[in-house]
Amino acid sequence: MEEPLSFLDWELSFHEDYSKTINAKISQLLKKYSDKKTLYKTAGLSDSSFHLERLDFQQGILECSIDSKGFSHTSKILIDRNNKVISHRCDEFKSSNRNSKSFCSHLIKLFLILQEEEPIEALYFLEDISVNDYESFLE
Ligand SMILES: [Zn+2]
Repeated sequence: MEEPLSFLDWELSFHEDYSKTINAKISQLLKKYSDKKTLYKTAGLSDSSFHLERLDFQQGILECSIDSKGFSHTSKILIDRNNKVISHRCDEFKSSNRNSKSFCSHLIKLFLILQEEEPIEALYFLEDISVNDYESFLE
């Protein structure tokens, strides 16, 4: 006869399933917003050049700065959930269609980092972007 699961084991497996589901959802959405070329570029970006400046659930704000390497200026990404705005400036983002919800490699990278550190928050923003029309500002 099998040993019944202890509560602790049950709880652990519950959390494991839960985080697997969250991770799967995040990966699915990121795949939707990117293509092979963008993912290739994303792989070349280093975690250490991304700095999470603000993550505010209440205000629906996600803000990140990116070291200037590869940019002619310091770049940032601002996602404003309440006003449905993504503000970011880079050549990739500029050339992508504003309505097509295609992310540049920096946006993908930001969410990959967030997926490691704050998966629930990452999904909170990604899901909202997937169901609402966000305006893109090149700032
Ligand atoms: Zn970018």
